[in-house]
Amino acid sequence: MTDATKDIENLIELMARLPGLGPRSARRAVLHMIKKRGVLMTPLADTLQTVAATARDCLNCGNIGTSDICDICASEKRNTGEICVVEDVADLWAMERALVFKGRYHILGGTLSALDAVGPQDLRIPKLLDRVASEGITEVILALNATIDGATTAHYIAQELGDRVKVTSLAQGVPIGGELDYLDDGTISAALKARKEF
Ligand SMILES: [Zn+2]
Repeated sequence: MTDATKDIENLIELMARLPGLGPRSARRAVLHMIKKRGVLMTPLADTLQTVAATARDCLNCGNIGTSDICDICASEKRNTGEICVVEDVADLWAMERALVFKGRYHILGGTLSALDAVGPQDLRIPKLLDRVASEGITEVILALNATIDGATTAHYIAQELGDRVKVTSLAQGVPIGGELDYLDDGTISAALKARKEF
């Protein structure tokens, strides 16, 4: 095998580790990129390098951005006293696509799980409690996925917050086992508008 072939094999192996891609899709993607290297591969490589160098987690909410405090946390317009709690940045993106929520977010980074030994300290739950105490928060909206672990996590957070703040959760419309990221904008919008006291 020549060095060039080995490099291409390495690239396919790396690509195959991406979610949604297996070895077959990775091979197709790499072949496509190589054929379109001028218009696709070179700009992609440059952009990957830039994002790898600048991406970081927001110290406040856990969102991904390019500075220590993300654009949403830094925006005065988003200071509504509402925090929407989600599991993952993909869920924040889904909420933002629906253009319906004007407050700020808090990304847990997963859910509590007895099976995988994930406890409150492994998630951004302590930071959430700090924020509710220090940011003048009036409502915490739990937008966790309708899985067993999501429900367990929502109950735990509601219990920890007690009656210090209004706690609501997204209304029906989020399918059981469904993830926010897979919902269309209208469904997310309806689920937020019809949110209920937890
Ligand atoms: Zn942030």
